[in-house]
Parts: sequence; structure tokens; C-alpha cells
Amino acid sequence: MAVHIGDTCINCGACIDECPVEAIVDEDDNPTGEEIYYVYNDKCVECVGHHDEPACATACPTEGCITWDAIGGSPSHREDITDEQRANKVPVVD
Ligand code: SF4
Ligand code: SF4
Repeated sequence: MAVHIGDTCINCGACIDECPVEAIVDEDDNPTGEEIYYVYNDKCVECVGHHDEPACATACPTEGCITWDAIGGSPSHREDITDEQRANKVPVVD
């Protein structure tokens, strides 16, 4: 993974158009079948080269729905995020 959308997602849609690489899909296209938005980790670049912080998390109105996750297939990742932050799914934006 790269960033992860958790089950507190309210399906508001604020994040999807902010993603510079179209890594986010809505609940209808979520491959897990969950009724929430979803980030493809093989597309998400953690907004490296696009924004100072992940734009999806900046746009998200919830408290901490979007978290750091293991790097996995992410094509780019932020060097300043620790393995501990990723392992504990720390919110990208508090
Ligand atoms: S962190 Fe950036 S690249 Fe990754 S899903 Fe969010 S908006 Fe898209
Ligand atoms: S902005 Fe946050 S609450 Fe809204 S759809 Fe995206 S992840 Fe879900």
C-alpha cells in the first residue's frame, strides 16, 4: 500500500479529483467490495513531485480516515515517513 482509506470514509468524493495519478476509485469500483473509496497502491505516488503532502488527505473532511500504509507496490514514497508510522497506520493528516 501507500496511503490507505479506512472504514471511516463517508464516500464524500472530495479526494478522488485531487489525485494527480488517478489512484483512487469510488465505492462502486472498490475491488475489495467494501462500500468505501479505495487507493490502488500500484498507482499511488504519495503525491511525490505533485504536492507537499498527499492531496487526498488534505481534501478529506474526516479525522484520520486516510492513513500511511506499507509501501508495497507504490511507485514513489515519502522518505520522511517511518516504518513505524506506516505499520501503525498513522493518519496522513490529523
Ligand atoms: S497520496 Fe496522492 S497519489 Fe496517493 S492516492 Fe492520495 S492523492 Fe493520489
Ligand atoms: S475525501 Fe475522505 S471521506 Fe471523502 S471519499 Fe475520500 S477518503 Fe472518503
